[in-house]
Amino acid sequence: MARRILVAIVCLVAVLSAAAQQDSIAMRYAGLITEEGLREHLSVLASDAYEGREVGSRGEKMATAYIMEQFKGYGIPPIAGAESKGLLPDGYRQEFPVVLARNGGIRMTVNGKPYRFLKDYFYFRETLPADLKVAEVMLVSGLTAGGMRLGGGGKVTLLWEEGDKDPPAPFLDLATLGKMVKGTGVEVLLVVEPSAAGLMERYGPMMEQGRMRLGGTDQGTKVEDGPQVMVITPELAEAIVAGSGLKKKKALKEAANKRVILKVPVSFTGKGVEEQLTGQNVLAYVEGGDKKDEIVVVTAHLDHVGVQDGEVYNGADDDGSGTVAVMGMAEAFAKAKADGHGPRRSMLFMAVSGEEKGLFGSRWYTDHPVFPLDSTVADLNIDMIGRVDSTHDGRDRYVYVIGSFRLSRELGDIVEMQNERYTKLALDYTYDAEDDPNRFYYRSDHYNFAKHGIPVAFFFNGVHEDYHGPYDEVDKIRFDLLRERTLLVYYTAWELANRDRRPAVNGD
Ligand SMILES: [Zn+2]
Repeated sequence: MARRILVAIVCLVAVLSAAAQQDSIAMRYAGLITEEGLREHLSVLASDAYEGREVGSRGEKMATAYIMEQFKGYGIPPIAGAESKGLLPDGYRQEFPVVLARNGGIRMTVNGKPYRFLKDYFYFRETLPADLKVAEVMLVSGLTAGGMRLGGGGKVTLLWEEGDKDPPAPFLDLATLGKMVKGTGVEVLLVVEPSAAGLMERYGPMMEQGRMRLGGTDQGTKVEDGPQVMVITPELAEAIVAGSGLKKKKALKEAANKRVILKVPVSFTGKGVEEQLTGQNVLAYVEGGDKKDEIVVVTAHLDHVGVQDGEVYNGADDDGSGTVAVMGMAEAFAKAKADGHGPRRSMLFMAVSGEEKGLFGSRWYTDHPVFPLDSTVADLNIDMIGRVDSTHDGRDRYVYVIGSFRLSRELGDIVEMQNERYTKLALDYTYDAEDDPNRFYYRSDHYNFAKHGIPVAFFFNGVHEDYHGPYDEVDKIRFDLLRERTLLVYYTAWELANRDRRPAVNGD
């Protein structure tokens, strides 16, 4: 009996000391982050009206306007001196240039007869440096282990492998083919593919979509040189051979042993159209107190992949979940500040855009920081925290934490400490392994902070069957888990904002 009482007392002491470590003020404002609130915002942002929030699109602008209005509603003032800091005059939004290079600009003629993109030929990358007219085409048949049997290539080279049993050439990787002929004098490589017509029918819209890159940088432009690789139908290849006056069978037979020159005029003119778009990050700055020059950043990406084949990709989990989490935390910190419990360090809650196309918004922010990167003590990034992956069936109170120890072990410890005190989720470090093949550490916005040496922690629920699919919808979100995971980030942010020392960077 006495022993029982002793055990009970020990337990009570343990509970009391854990409670003593909890910060009742932090908990009070955590109460503002509710399932209902998260649901309300997500039901707006991930609705069809927002058209999948693709960077540069109308839906993205609707989303940034909505988020900004909420920030204002929380009483968060605009950032002072907005324009001198590279923000829009509203003081909340940071705009960045996006270049959309559409495919399909190259027009091809054989013997003066025009052929058409997505009917007779296709390509994924437009790399033709200038218009090109030639009087002859070199015919080669076959790749060898060491590369193409070219010696010196013709400016326009026709690669025609008859009776090829390999998988369709386009998915052999056109970029690799391009590399193989680079430096051989080839400017256009035409690859004959028996299934080209079917591929174009099936993947035409994707081939036409084009590629985005962040403007104002060389990102994405470096790979855009090298020979133009085009996949053509056998019919077009036959027209080229026939145009030279040779018979197909004979030409191919000769090409098996040597390079065959086809005397036929062929031209390539034009380029894809480049469209100039803009993306927007939305910033809510809650100024700190005695340590206000130091900044804690909390990020999530507001953009998703837009509309494809007439279907809106709502991106409720990816990353509507992170976006509404950031909004909820902004509201809680703003209300705390209004009540006289503001953070010691400044907080920057930022919904970034263009993540899906290559982390554009976070790259732009860290290249054009509104607050000095030297004074940025950490970035807590959220990308998908509203679902459960298949490996956690039945054990759903978890979150993957990635990168939290890499640059600052102290930051990793703080995440664990706050989880222990408040949220008690299972922290899963599976994807934190340096050699993790998914490379998630490099695949979301925290990476742009980490590469500048800023400690980061990335919160993630893992992938699921609706990842980047049209059914990533609000009704599949687990708002209970979304709230709990948000609270882990919130309590981590609260600690980072208020402790005496910023987390030490490893090795310092
Ligand atoms: Zn994402």
